[in-house]
Amino acid sequence: MHRGLLRDAERGVERRATQLRVRSNAGLETMTVIDLAQAKAGREPHLSGAAVCLACKHEWVAVAPVGTVWMECPACSLERGRYLGAVNVGGDHWHCQCGNDLFRATPTGMYCPNCGEWQHGF
Ligand SMILES: [Zn+2]
Ligand SMILES: [Zn+2]
Repeated sequence: MHRGLLRDAERGVERRATQLRVRSNAGLETMTVIDLAQAKAGREPHLSGAAVCLACKHEWVAVAPVGTVWMECPACSLERGRYLGAVNVGGDHWHCQCGNDLFRATPTGMYCPNCGEWQHGF
């Protein structure tokens, strides 16, 4: 009778331990999913800069993955936000002798839309 009670008690402890293990595994799986998503977002190249909402004219400093065209406005929540200025990824940039650094690309090369000179880069 005493052994029977002991076995029941042991089984109860085992059952509780199993339930705890299942619960902590479930928590671990959820954490892994979040960590992978964060790691992927961290590896993606992002741009940041002054942005304006074309709907409500609110201005803010936006951060978004490269290639994002419309950004959600933090003021009105509409996806009508655009960057205010041109994109500059940093590093050295080629300049035409006339000073222009924006070019037209054709199948045979790039030329300066300011002075017409063909460009050869660095
Ligand atoms: Zn807005
Ligand atoms: Zn030029």
